[in-house]
Amino acid sequence: MKNGTIYADNAATTKLDIDAFETMKRFLLEEYGNPSAKYSFSRSSSNAIKEARYKIAECIGAQANEIYFTSGGTEGNNWILKGMQYQDINKMHIITSCIEHHAILEVCHLLEEHGFTVTYLPVNKFGQVEPEVLKKAIRQDTVLVSIMLANNEVGTIQNIVEMTNIAHANNILFHTDAVQAVGHIPIDAKRLGVDFLTASAHKFNGCKGTGFVYVRDGVTTSSLLIGGAQEKGRRAGTENVAGIVAMSTALEKNCENMNKNIEHINEVVSVFLDELSKRGIDYIRNGAEVSLPGLVSVSFRNAESEMLLHRLDLKKICISMGAACDSKQTIVSHVLKAMQIKEDYVNGTIRVSFGKYNTINEAVIIAEAISDILK
Ligand code: PLP
Repeated sequence: MKNGTIYADNAATTKLDIDAFETMKRFLLEEYGNPSAKYSFSRSSSNAIKEARYKIAECIGAQANEIYFTSGGTEGNNWILKGMQYQDINKMHIITSCIEHHAILEVCHLLEEHGFTVTYLPVNKFGQVEPEVLKKAIRQDTVLVSIMLANNEVGTIQNIVEMTNIAHANNILFHTDAVQAVGHIPIDAKRLGVDFLTASAHKFNGCKGTGFVYVRDGVTTSSLLIGGAQEKGRRAGTENVAGIVAMSTALEKNCENMNKNIEHINEVVSVFLDELSKRGIDYIRNGAEVSLPGLVSVSFRNAESEMLLHRLDLKKICISMGAACDSKQTIVSHVLKAMQIKEDYVNGTIRVSFGKYNTINEAVIIAEAISDILK
């Protein structure tokens, strides 16, 4: 990367794919008509949105009419969860997990203020929600189960198929926050069986401020944003045409190259971990065996993640941390807490998230830098 920076925080955001950038330029500089306008100049914008919807649907095993464009993951999660207020007045119970992103948890807290009851399911030490635990939490008035597909801090992938079966057997809707998973692992919405799925483009080499929600055909939702006919009136507002086009290009490309990308990223991760071991570093890797490619949550014994992050930053290495210190105490993330990571390791937890642009050489440099700092 320019100026020698090594970027290994791809779970936070990713670099825009160059092909995505090239395709979006046209819709910013030349064919910039409002897709709702009736003259022919706008036709290429409206056609581009149509095409993008088909492409995205194909990438996730959905139909084009099931894809709704949004501004990203936070909006998608807010839309679906807040929409539960209008489903059924007699059903005001939601089940989620205690390791969800704040864009789920904070909406749940808001809904609790509005009369909902929310059950926050625990996870096991690998960060997995156990389907049996979900079964026991179901009530007569449960309207929705919302469990993330892959966790953003430790990468654990959940058994969504089994959990949607449980929900549907009880006539309950199922939402999954798939922000970290889309574009990185194969996704088939029909096979997963979900009613709603949230995605965000900037996590898979698309643009920030663009995303989509899958809403299964026939499932009703309310509108989060009203005041226009866009997205069948369910998400009003002039579409981010360039962002949508870039998102579909980036997703299509990542899906076409998925096996190759996963193979490369797995190799980078394995070199990184081998290099840590070779240098005698005492660490544990958090998460489950089935987890996101490239996302490595590692805890170092008796270390401080905040110190590690700052020292790595001085070496122009970007990673993120799982525990942060304020002036009096160390604040451990809700995910690590829920997984009950060992006390002498938890404060030294960092997240290194590799993506398709990272190299083996970068993995070696990061491991070397961590080992130098820890020693
Ligand atoms: N959900 C998960 C699991 C995430 O990791 C993130 C972003 O980090 C979000 C939701 C929010 O997505 P966005 O940044 O597109 O609003």
